[in-house]
Amino acid sequence: MSDATSSLHIYNSLSGKKEQFTPIEDKHVGMYVCGPTVYSNVHLGNCRTFISFDLVYRYLKHLGYSVRYVRNITDAGHLEHDADEGEDRISKKARLERIEPMEVVQRYTVDFHQTLAAFNTLPPNIEPTATGHIIEQIEIVKGILASGLAYEVSGSVYFDVQKYNESNNYGILSGRKLEDMIHNTRSLSRQSDKRSPQDFALWKKAEPQHIMRWPSPWGDGFPGWHLECTAMSTKYLGEQFDIHGGGMDLKFPHHECEIAQAQALNQKRPVNTWMHANMLTLNGKKMAKSTGKNILPNELFSGANPVLSKAFSPDVARFFMLHAHYRSILDLSSDALEAAEKGYKRLIQGIELLADLPISDKSSTDINTHISSYFDAMNDDFNSPVLIAQLFETVKLIHRVKQGEDTLSKSDLEKLHKAVHHFVLDVLGLTLTSNQSEDTYLDKALSVLIEMREQARANKDFATADRIRDELLAKGIQLKDGKDGTTYGLSS
Ligand code: AMP
Ligand code: ZN
Repeated sequence: MSDATSSLHIYNSLSGKKEQFTPIEDKHVGMYVCGPTVYSNVHLGNCRTFISFDLVYRYLKHLGYSVRYVRNITDAGHLEHDADEGEDRISKKARLERIEPMEVVQRYTVDFHQTLAAFNTLPPNIEPTATGHIIEQIEIVKGILASGLAYEVSGSVYFDVQKYNESNNYGILSGRKLEDMIHNTRSLSRQSDKRSPQDFALWKKAEPQHIMRWPSPWGDGFPGWHLECTAMSTKYLGEQFDIHGGGMDLKFPHHECEIAQAQALNQKRPVNTWMHANMLTLNGKKMAKSTGKNILPNELFSGANPVLSKAFSPDVARFFMLHAHYRSILDLSSDALEAAEKGYKRLIQGIELLADLPISDKSSTDINTHISSYFDAMNDDFNSPVLIAQLFETVKLIHRVKQGEDTLSKSDLEKLHKAVHHFVLDVLGLTLTSNQSEDTYLDKALSVLIEMREQARANKDFATADRIRDELLAKGIQLKDGKDGTTYGLSS
């Protein structure tokens, strides 16, 4: 294990400070990240959050930790409105498309996996689903009822926030105060059977038309959205674990409720370090699935979106995202992507020169300062923009060595080569593709799109399949279906 492990500092949303990271169990890290609700295609905003945690996972592994990375799939329980109201997002999609809820889940889980693979993110070690853990969730509801911090009303079970707050702090993560929440909330809608608007559902009674339903001690119903993450994180990582992550928008109510549930159940703080990734915006507004104001990855890879001047490769998009710190807001625009593309090519071309640099007897510069600057950047709360800036400093050195203005010994050259490749490939997760022609980029992007179209057709989602074909055609690229599969060419 590297000495650098002892210097890793992570910003903990719970304390609002950067803290030295010390895992509960030496050399092992348990990390849970909230996964997608699979009722529509993931957009680039979602991808940014998962790429941010991919960076965290990669760096922890690079430091030598054995990491158990758990990222769930939300396939039930997430209602349209966060305040326990509205239809289940997956059931609604299934109803509108006249397909089974599990077909919706399958379609968008496949899309999620394909998209994240295109961005070269590593798969988690465990990817549990909410529907696969109904029994565990029911057990937790029973436990919280037994602790006296939940109550049952006609087939639904709610968490009693005010009672919990008497001996705990509901708001510990988000910094909100319960009195202010009470003051600022409207009174309960007439349909609600909660005692107080701040209470949240642990288990909801299923109305007759609700198709995603399971038997429970309280009758047929379905779990509350926050419950699944408590059930799955506790099951796979224990009652207390090291890191819990998600997008900034999950801090409240989702993560606040997770803390309350686990605390009520186990009388322990479930998570040592809470990490929240900031939003990707479009013209200053958060990209969101629910508003439709977003860009989909396949639109980025094909350029088929009016916001984009051209297509961008997954590698360039990943570089674009990592050139901002995960806790900063990042605004997407075609200009910003083009600038990232130029920067990415300059970086990769510089690194490629490493293989053919002249070897000298002695080095004119201390190579360790370069290498330690990479660790320093990442140890400072995974500061990828500073890491990238330091890699550009190394590119400057590479050019100076090439021009004979600086020298490097054989061993220093090898050491630098190894470190640069580790940080660029293993930590940043870039794939070094600059020496390939634009055609190869196109090939890669199109093979992703062709695969997505095939998957859409297999799922009978002909609207998406046709949209991929038509939007490519509008850009002058024609897909041709043959007996050996689909190829592409320029349209005549
Ligand atoms: P969802 O499928 O809506 O639950 O979102 C999956 C993940 O994407 C969550 O961690 C969200 O916080 C995150 N997310 C949603 N919108 C954005 C955005 N515009 N930028 C970054 N992350 C986002
Ligand atoms: Zn969650």
